[in-house]
Order: sequence, then structure tokens, then C-alpha cells
Amino acid sequence: MSREGEGPLQRWLELRDEVKRRIEYRSFYLRYCPEARQTGARLQALCPIPAHAHSGRGHPSLSVDLQQGLFNCFSRDEGGDALTFYQLMHGVTFAEAVRLLARELGIGEEGGGARRPSLAAASAPDAESAVEEAGDFAPLDEGRTHAVCESFLEVCREEEQLEGLNYLARRGIDSRTARGAGLAYFPRRAYRRVMRRMLDCFPLETLQRGGLFNRKEHLTFYRHRLLFPFLVEGRAVYLQARTTASGVEPRWHNMRGPVPSLYNLDALRNLPSGSVVHLVEGFTDTLTLTAHGFHAVGLVGAGGLKDEWLAPLARFRVVAALDPDDAGRRAAARYREMFARRGSGLAVLNLPADVNDFFRQHPAAALEFELLAETALEAMRDEG
Ligand SMILES: [Zn+2]
Repeated sequence: MSREGEGPLQRWLELRDEVKRRIEYRSFYLRYCPEARQTGARLQALCPIPAHAHSGRGHPSLSVDLQQGLFNCFSRDEGGDALTFYQLMHGVTFAEAVRLLARELGIGEEGGGARRPSLAAASAPDAESAVEEAGDFAPLDEGRTHAVCESFLEVCREEEQLEGLNYLARRGIDSRTARGAGLAYFPRRAYRRVMRRMLDCFPLETLQRGGLFNRKEHLTFYRHRLLFPFLVEGRAVYLQARTTASGVEPRWHNMRGPVPSLYNLDALRNLPSGSVVHLVEGFTDTLTLTAHGFHAVGLVGAGGLKDEWLAPLARFRVVAALDPDDAGRRAAARYREMFARRGSGLAVLNLPADVNDFFRQHPAAALEFELLAETALEAMRDEG
């Protein structure tokens, strides 16, 4: 196994993937089959593949799926992707097909040819195993983690925030709530500038140890550019980021290190004891409630609630509003036991939808939610 993942094969595969991302299948196939007929997302044409030596008359035997970019010649039972088609049409090898198509599409022309993978590939976070194996990226201490987080947020806030704010607005989170939570965004076109600015602020090694940069010396926040800081006394101590595009998996990316606390815990600092605090899943639900004047903290990350996070909640009346599925119900029961072991209660609110959907679907959601929470607290008192 190549530890660096940077062998020649890897570079060819990255280039091939970039070709596939950029190629426009319709115009590509029409170039070879100008007479093709289109029905929906399919082309039907007389098969032009030279080696098939078709007569050029009769039924069109070539079918192209424009969504996947796949072709099939029914007459010779041969098919494949656009690169295979290109190989067959031009009688070239796989590597030649990749190189020629990449050149045609203008990939890698800024220098280096096949040695220059796309930004999406170059910015990919290092595999956790590779980081551990390497052993040279010891985690940052607290002070430097904070400094890196704060600078990253500042650098991002200098960029145009509109796309990020629009994304949040569509989910019912207004710009005041976003600002209050310290959120920051940068558009993809600013990626290189943000990367350079971070390198102006810190040594590369520091950024790599924090997981903001990878071994390819690129900022890893390329698809995930909407930043959610975890704050302690107003200062960022950890960052997670979300993609605002649909279809990107995973949807979240974070800096290195464990999630330090419940999200939005800092917002409870000046809240009087005995206040109602909602425990929800995720950033969006937390901020949806905040936008409607509720006090909420969010569970983010796979691990769920940790015992050491309960102490700061002890002085509040806590109501859980988790997702209305089996996993959410099981989690609520488990958290209830955790609270009970500490001698405090957890009220559980059962919504018909997750918090964000509930608030988007119900015009009087805020009032309904408040009443449901009161009912849940009463039910807990009666049981207890
Ligand atoms: Zn054919």
C-alpha cells in the first residue's frame, strides 16, 4: 500500500475522475453520431465504432445513457463509459484517452498535466489511518487550536457571506441568529485566497496538525464551507463545517479532535437557573429554536451525549426534542437514565417531525412547541 496515496496510478485515476466530472456527455457523443435521435435522457444512433464494421444502414444499434454517460452497441454487445468509447473510436490506450480528453477539457493546463489533480481531489482530508501511521501530526494544544479556529473564522468572514446566509434562511435561520452563533462562510471561488491567508497566519505544520490542511498542503474545507464554531466564552474552540450543496457526502467535515461539548452551550452562560433548555440533534435544529427565541443545545457527531457534558445543564429544566424515529426514541430513553443517575430529570417531547421540519410546516409552531414542552415537563414531574 502506498502510504501517500500519490503513486502514478492514483494520479491517473484522479485525472480520469476529473474528466468524468467535467465531460458533457451529450455533445461528446453527438460529435461522433451527429444523426443521433434523443428520447428523454437517451440517444439512439447508428454505431460509428470502426472495429464493429457496421454497414451504416438499418436499425440504430448504439444506445447512450446521457445521465451516466454509458454507451451500448446491441449489435456487437459491447458497451462502457465515455473513455472506453473514446478508446474504441480513436484506437488509443486508456492512458492516452484520459490524457487527450483532459487536454480537450482544459484540465491541468495551469501546469503539470497529469501531475495536477483537481482541487476537489487535492483538498480531500487525509484518511485517519494515514494520519495516525505518519505519527508526525500530533494534535494541537488548546491555545493553538483556539487561535487557528478564530483566524479561520475571521478569514472566512472577510469573504462574501450571501450564499451561506441564503442557505440558512431557507432553513428558517435568520442572519441575526447566524451572526450570534458566530457562523462564517466562504464561496468556492474564494478557496485559494482563504487557503493563502491561512498560510500567512500559521506554519503549514500547525494547520496540518489541526486537520485544516492535508498532506497535499491544501485546505480541506473545499466542499464544506459553512462553518459552525463551538464557543467557550465567545471564543471558538472547535469547528465543524457543512456543505451547502445537495448530494455531497459526507455532509459534514470537521477539524481534528473530538467534539468538545454540546453545541451552543456557550449561549446558556447568562441564562437564569431554572430556565427551560432544549436538547436537540444537530446544528440546524439548535439554531432553528434559537431563531424562535428558545434556548437550545445540540448533539452533533456520532457519539451521542457524554456524561461529562451533563454538569453544565444541571441548573436548568431540560427538555429533549430528538428526531421522531426509533434511533431518536432509543436515545431519549438512554439520556433520561443518564440524567436520572445524576439525580436530575429529562423531559421528553415527542414531535411529529424533526424540529426544523416542524417549524417550517406549522405556522404557529413556536406556540405549539412551547405548550408541548410544558406538557412534557409536567408529565415528568408527575412521574417523578
Ligand atoms: Zn457497434
